[in-house]
Amino acid sequence: MLRGGMPHALLVTGPAGVGKTTFAEDVAAGLLCVVADRSERPCGTCRACRALSHGNHPDLHRLAPTGAGSVIPIGGRDERGVRDLVRDLALLPVEGGARVAVIVSADRMTEDAQSAMLKTLEEPPAATVLILTAADEERLLPTIRSRCVRIRLGPVARREVEDLLVEGGYAEAPTAARVARLAAGRPGEAVALARAPEAITIRSEVGRTLLDLVAATRTDRLRIARDLLTRTAALASSVAAASSASGDGGEGAAAVARPRTTRGRGRGAVAATSTTATALADVTPAGAAADPEAAGPAAKVPASERRAAALGLVAIWRDVTRDLALVALGQPADVRQIDLLDDLESVSGRLDPAFAVDQLRRLELAGERLEGNVSPELVIDALALGWTAPARVSDAS
Ligand SMILES: [Zn+2]
Repeated sequence: MLRGGMPHALLVTGPAGVGKTTFAEDVAAGLLCVVADRSERPCGTCRACRALSHGNHPDLHRLAPTGAGSVIPIGGRDERGVRDLVRDLALLPVEGGARVAVIVSADRMTEDAQSAMLKTLEEPPAATVLILTAADEERLLPTIRSRCVRIRLGPVARREVEDLLVEGGYAEAPTAARVARLAAGRPGEAVALARAPEAITIRSEVGRTLLDLVAATRTDRLRIARDLLTRTAALASSVAAASSASGDGGEGAAAVARPRTTRGRGRGAVAATSTTATALADVTPAGAAADPEAAGPAAKVPASERRAAALGLVAIWRDVTRDLALVALGQPADVRQIDLLDDLESVSGRLDPAFAVDQLRRLELAGERLEGNVSPELVIDALALGWTAPARVSDAS
């Protein structure tokens, strides 16, 4: 494509932390690089490449989610959004060559913002390439998707992630092996974890606590669930601190905190979420009374952080469920949390093998609810109470 057949719009899809933004930026560099030999682009040393690496190339336009809801707004007023990008692209290129717009996490565009994007995607200004990245392409309007050439980035083999960590100097071999398992084929997640060793420890403790939760009473489950949220919040902030210390602007932390492979979250899910919100709201007084102390500190933390912590916990919970299922199927070599293998084996023996199917569906639903305006604590309480229990009809409604 770079050597001649570049489409107007690319949609790069794949799980969070797999390398979508890195790839999009490499393509942008390939388009803006000015070295004579096209096969050398991006050269990494020309004027354009240097400007790109300093983040100040005038013909690279970048848009990414911002604010509490982590969305890309329509913009045009107080906050930068799609309208501002469209206006910038209507001007002539500063350098007179190609012009590239990278929309990071385009699936976080509001529906208004997506509509405002359509015309530009349909008839982009001359010599302009739009590159969109999306972890969950089902959140994009079909009209957006149909105007883009799609490039799917899949999980990277565990061994390759391990090599990348060692060769990049992020981790020594034994840690690299452990982190590569946890990262499940996502190099960005692996690097983020390797930079924050305490995050690996917290992650492991959270996994072990989830396994202990199977035998806990209802009251204990509610208390422990709040504690788990505190720990996943600490996990997210340690990853964020490690990322910003190494100067990549916390991209890794965002990757960790963002929802992962929640499928089937189409537009119909919005209605379902609000119904759920009403149903869950009825539970509030009982939940609050059961644990008034836990509700106190949570109320002071910004909603976006509480939601990110809950999404982080749901992601670890999904890994624990998956690992329990693998052990039950007699495939312990593939588990992600290899240090929990003994606990996984002892808990797995006590469960109905079909539990994982119900549990994964509950976790998927929890992810959808967290995207809506539902209290993260209540979503986690519901998961804690239902953990390993047989599914009820009301769970799916
Ligand atoms: Zn160059």
